[in-house]
Amino acid sequence: MTRYMCSQCHVLYTFDEYRALESQSLHTDDPNDQYGVESVCGECGSGFHSEKWRLRDEIETSVGDVVVSTVALLIPHGINRDQLYETCLFSETGNRVARRYETEAEAEVGHEKHISALKSNNFTKETTGETIKITLE
Ligand SMILES: [Zn+2]
Repeated sequence: MTRYMCSQCHVLYTFDEYRALESQSLHTDDPNDQYGVESVCGECGSGFHSEKWRLRDEIETSVGDVVVSTVALLIPHGINRDQLYETCLFSETGNRVARRYETEAEAEVGHEKHISALKSNNFTKETTGETIKITLE
């Protein structure tokens, strides 16, 4: 069963519970809601998008700037639906999901590992078709 996680208080909602949550405009100064709305957690009041847990760093490397983005996933991933966080690498030559984690603590450690590997040039480039992917060693 699909569940939806609040990245601030970690409450899990069923699809029906999530659909029933109140919503708020993504731009509070937009009276017509033309930029859309987001669901608001019934437990802690956080916006599911605007207040999503995330870490973001841009690292200068030998193959160009790479953005390390680690975020809480709205919907748990993995065979056991226990992966709640993921690190993605974004670069001019390709993007990839680098790693998924079960806990916020693991996600913070993984995020820092990617930053230090990129800063110390401790990674390989992998060419697949026209996309170059970066893999940590
Ligand atoms: Zn919450």
